[in-house]
Amino acid sequence: MSNPETTQGKAAPELSEARKVYIKTYGCQMNVYDSERMADILAAEGYKSAETPEDADLVLLNTCHIREKAAEKVYSEIGRLRALKARARGDGRAMKIAVAGCVAQAEGAEILKRAQSVDVVVGPQSYHRLPALLKAGKRAVETEFPAESKFDHMPEPGFRNMRLPGDRPQPLLQQQAGLPRHAAAFLTVQEGCDKFCTFCVVPYTRGAEFSRPVARIVEEAEALAARGVKDVMLLGQNVNAYHGAGPAAGAWPLARLLARLSEISGIERLRYTTSHPRDMSDDLIAAHRDLPKLMPYLHLPAQSGSDRILALMNRRHDRNFYLRLVERLRRARPDLALSGDFIVGFPGETEADFSATLDLVRAVGYAQAYSFKYSPRPGTPAAGEAQVPDAVKAERLQRLQALLDEGQAAFNAKMLGREFDLLLEKPGKRPGQLVGRSPWLQAVHVDAPESLIGAMVKVAVDRIGSNSLFGALVDPPRAVA
Ligand code: SF4
Repeated sequence: MSNPETTQGKAAPELSEARKVYIKTYGCQMNVYDSERMADILAAEGYKSAETPEDADLVLLNTCHIREKAAEKVYSEIGRLRALKARARGDGRAMKIAVAGCVAQAEGAEILKRAQSVDVVVGPQSYHRLPALLKAGKRAVETEFPAESKFDHMPEPGFRNMRLPGDRPQPLLQQQAGLPRHAAAFLTVQEGCDKFCTFCVVPYTRGAEFSRPVARIVEEAEALAARGVKDVMLLGQNVNAYHGAGPAAGAWPLARLLARLSEISGIERLRYTTSHPRDMSDDLIAAHRDLPKLMPYLHLPAQSGSDRILALMNRRHDRNFYLRLVERLRRARPDLALSGDFIVGFPGETEADFSATLDLVRAVGYAQAYSFKYSPRPGTPAAGEAQVPDAVKAERLQRLQALLDEGQAAFNAKMLGREFDLLLEKPGKRPGQLVGRSPWLQAVHVDAPESLIGAMVKVAVDRIGSNSLFGALVDPPRAVA
């Protein structure tokens, strides 16, 4: 186990007796999962949740490096927290600020230099060291990629006795166990990436590909099922490259892991994200045909439709490979909803390259997709290349998003009048309304009592909204198990 590197400076004040933590999460689902695990770790140390940063003894920023000017945004947030920390000190309270996640990994000790109010900087592979770093009594930074896995040092899921910002209370389930419980959960199975796309920081901030052993994932999924979770989204930066150690000799691919998780009683739905087209193996495509619990939804980023740009991005696939893959997937699972990621204005992108992206979007027919203007990430190969003017990027993004919105509306429109199973997850915007997810991951609003949160119900869609569906319960709903 590596020691925290400490810096000179005043020893941070000790934590007060009633310790409360406020965790603010930025970015992707993996960060949401990581925040939950850090909450578990801190709960094991006696921390409770704070409703607001003002009320906290520890404010933890779990940061994301994907968006433009990510580090600067974190420094502004720290600036706001510095005032809170000063106020707390004036009230005789010791408040600590910790920065975690990918900005912590990328900036490291620079954060302690630039922001005197920060006590701890911890990278994504060292979360298990958080309690030790907080107790070190000195400002500390830990951004090593430690030899031991953080996953081996985490408390069981379910230990957490706190809510995170964004958690919605789920009265019936809470009554049953006294814990915040959810119908759906994330489960990280893989981290890091060896692909080195030229625009992406992940291989640098999250390190090389690492897959958790099958046995630990099965244990965690069983613990989630015991807490009432029915829908599990497996997470990994390159999740379909999964190759975790199996119970006997040899590694298991993702398809085999999914088949094993399908056997767990209580888990009714499985999904996985994010996938690389190159790692979409035959057995994984077949799993979409053979595993009824594997939902008909797949996030499969293409990034561009131009072979020239795909090569510059080092994506390791071309347009034809991607389109053939989509064809094979749809043969295996004809109702598959495809989602994607696109970057517009990558260095060197011409109008013809961009048109090829629009063509690809039309050819695939995405149920939904995320699209972004390219913005350079320091330290990545594409960052030093000549940039496409921002006005051009903005105009292309607008055209792409209009096309993607059309595709999403067309996909949703096909749902009108259809009946399917809906997993009710949380209260809706107005009283008496709940929101759940369809098998294709659309949000569906229905009128139903809160006691049905966590139940799988049959719903008929009677209205299509701009980003979601509306429906009515069909059968007398099944009771929550
Ligand atoms: S495959 Fe995904 S995570 Fe890996 S480098 Fe490319 S964009 Fe980043």
